[in-house]
Parts: sequence; C-alpha cells; structure tokens
Amino acid sequence: MGITEAFRKVQSQIVHAAMNSGRNPAHIKLVAVTKTVNMPEIIEAIQAGALILGENRVQEAQKKVKSYELGLRSEKIEWHLIGNLQKNKAKTAVELFDLIHSVDSAGLAEEVDNHARKTGKKQRILVQVKLSDEATKHGITENNLMDLLTKIAKMDCLKMEGLMTMPPYFEDPEKTRPYFRKLKQLADKAIEKGFVLYELSMGMSNDFEVAIEEGATLVRVGTAIFGERD
Ligand SMILES: *Cc1c(COP(=O)(O)O)cnc(C)c1O
Repeated sequence: MGITEAFRKVQSQIVHAAMNSGRNPAHIKLVAVTKTVNMPEIIEAIQAGALILGENRVQEAQKKVKSYELGLRSEKIEWHLIGNLQKNKAKTAVELFDLIHSVDSAGLAEEVDNHARKTGKKQRILVQVKLSDEATKHGITENNLMDLLTKIAKMDCLKMEGLMTMPPYFEDPEKTRPYFRKLKQLADKAIEKGFVLYELSMGMSNDFEVAIEEGATLVRVGTAIFGERD
C-alpha cells in the first residue's frame, strides 16, 4: 500500500472509531509521525492531507523544517515534538515546534518558558505523564502531576493544552486501554481543580482506535502510514 492510500485508510479508521464511540471525528487530529522518514515520503503524506507532522528528535526535525521551508510549499504544516526533550535543546525546540508533547519536569518547563519569552512566543505544550514503571519511559508520575501543572500555570509564556502518554507496547491493543482511560481520568481531575486542558495525546499505529474510544484528541501514527521503520 502506498503512503497516500495508507494515510486515507488511517483517516477513515479515525472517523469510524470516533463514530463508534459517539464522538465527533472533527475533534480528533492525526499527527503523522515522520521520524526516520525522508522528505519525498513526507511530501506525499502532506499531499494526501497530513496537516501535523510529529518528530521525536530536535536535530532531525531541524533539517526537515529547513528543507520544507526552502521548498516554499504553500501548505501550512504544524510541527510537533513528540519525543523526549533535553534542556539544552529547548531553545531550538521553541524555534521549531508548534506543540511540544513531552514536557515532564518543572526544570524543563522553565527552560522552554524562558526561551519562549526571548522569542516573544507563547509556546504550546502538553505534559507527558508516565503511567507505567518502565525505566525507559519519560514522563511525570501521577503523584507529581498536579504540582507540575500548578507550576506551569504560573509560567507566562507557556500555553498548557493537555496531557500526553506513551504506554508500554502490547500486541493486543485492548491491553493499552487502561492506560488511556487513566490519562483521561487524570485530565478530568485536573479540569475539576480548575486547570484548562483539552488535548489528550495518546494512541499510536497499533492502538489509536482504542485511544480514540477513550478520549484521545491527538493520535500519533507513524508505521501505519509510512510502513515499518528500519
Ligand atoms: C514513534 C512514535 C510514535 C509512532 O509510533 P508508530 O507505532 O510507528 O505509529 C508515536 N509516539 C511517539 C512518542 C513515538 O516516538
């Protein structure tokens, strides 16, 4: 299957998953995950209708954003950082990305806030939550979430839009459902406490339909659009 066809298939799966769970498909945005994917394939996805591209490395994204801008393409694309961000890359991240999905500490939030202030930007962010105890996963723990949200709320140049999570991988997507449900519950709890958040970034190629059933507003899909990465 080509990229165009694969992209359209994912779009229609999103619509079906939304309708099946009584949700408005317009409330779910597809982030085409383009890490390791080359520009010609990325352009094909954009031509098929991709509006948001997700990258997990700042340097790789920098090259692509430059190349995209040099191509003087007219489509307005959003670039999202979905991977872990180190403090020393915060400046470049603020320059490149419309939305950073992976803020997971007060220190990192402050760094991003500082660079956003210098640039005169209000940086849109999500807070990444770690719901499993896998050592390899980034994210703030459930116990420290409200404290981090409170600190971020005081940072003028950040616009906190919601939460993101990356559950452990399971072959059976039903096994990820409890993680998605948990993230939604945490968001609802924060909303009850007065925080404004409306985005839930959750679900990947293997489980985005389940994530949509549990309230995802941003699904991050790579393999199902571009094929297996090397
Ligand atoms: C790679 C990646 C994805 C996409 O994974 P696929 O299984 O290829 O859809 C989503 N989110 C993050 C954070 C990733 O690093």
